[in-house]
Amino acid sequence: MTSSVRPLLNRRLAEFGTTIFAEMSALALRTGSINLGQGFPDTDGPEEVREAAVRALRDGRGNQYPPGPGVPELRLAVAAHQERRYGLTYDPDTEVLVTAGATEAIAAALLALLEPGDEVVALEPYYDSYAACIAMAGARRVPVTLRPDGGRFRLDLDELRAAVTDRTRLLLINTPHNPTGTVLTREELAAVAELAVERDLLVVTDEVYEHLVFDGAEHVPLATFPGMRERTVTISSAGKTYSFTGWKVGWVTAPPALVTAVRSAKQFLTYVASGPFQYAVAEALALPDSYYADFRADMQAKRDLLASGLKEAGFEVFTSAGTYFITTDIRPLGESDGFAFCRALPERAGVVAIPNAVFYDHKDAGAPYVRFAFCKRAEVLQEAADRLRRLAP
Ligand code: PMP
Ligand code: GLN
Repeated sequence: MTSSVRPLLNRRLAEFGTTIFAEMSALALRTGSINLGQGFPDTDGPEEVREAAVRALRDGRGNQYPPGPGVPELRLAVAAHQERRYGLTYDPDTEVLVTAGATEAIAAALLALLEPGDEVVALEPYYDSYAACIAMAGARRVPVTLRPDGGRFRLDLDELRAAVTDRTRLLLINTPHNPTGTVLTREELAAVAELAVERDLLVVTDEVYEHLVFDGAEHVPLATFPGMRERTVTISSAGKTYSFTGWKVGWVTAPPALVTAVRSAKQFLTYVASGPFQYAVAEALALPDSYYADFRADMQAKRDLLASGLKEAGFEVFTSAGTYFITTDIRPLGESDGFAFCRALPERAGVVAIPNAVFYDHKDAGAPYVRFAFCKRAEVLQEAADRLRRLAP
């Protein structure tokens, strides 16, 4: 039964509408624009990884429901990766959970760990699914705004501390950070960790861009800090690291009690997903260090190409120390409304970008920022830069 006065979409989700990524990718298609909006590469990842998926399909591995926690080969490979890269040891049987991308891991973690009324402190701007999942859990988001400072977006540690109340259950962290491209420094992470320990908070940390840090910087997982392993749910995914965003293979590493909790929610979301791809990602995780170094160098060159184009076009360009993304300020172009700017950009320059304001509760704080993705072929970025130069004042 429906009622003419009661909207179909429930109150928890009503504010979210269609994701900006779907809206902007559709706009790019409709207008034939270069899509620097939604973050996905325009070339696939390594051929041997793609072949591994084909082999798994042909050999009948993963064509039927894989085990709920993920196929053993992938859980082993995730545990080995965490140990090799970060010295973090996780038991593949009890401390690793495979999910349908990081998206499901985020949803399952928040649905499992939050009670209605709990507060979640999250960095603003925040990836859009965080807000929706916190809402679906009936909890409340408390954004701590990253602010431009010295050419990058910075976390104010006093603001972070002040945001924690007796109702705070969880800190939701993302580094390298989408959309700003900020990578939290070791000092910032240490302060986050100290706060979590002092206030006895759970931490969910989204590290899907762990392999995309530039200029020789390093990614430091929050779980490596003192007192953190036991309270931290670390989330990552194959999409960004291996350039197969459509495969939707993600994972959680955490102590057994946290993995069990997250699995309790996950089993009723998808139950399982991406069977054959799980085997392929297990092989990808064992790629030699040279793969990661080459990947990073290639993406850094792309970042530099787009950043110089954006500067020439008149944007203020913030340093992107990681991720697929560059955040810009459009005010030097005489603009102040990122939404209006992005809606007009296809017409003005044949390019699509994302207005960062969608990732803010404090819409005014986010209004002048616009995000561009650089995970595209060099010639595409060059063409986009040439087109954007038309905007130069
Ligand atoms: N977290 C962040 C910060 C992201 O940018 C994305 C999008 N790629 C995701 C999570 C979702 O990852 P996945 O595609 O593996 O679900
Ligand atoms: N993570 C990608 C981005 O920020 C988009 C993923 C999605 O469309 N859900 O662009």
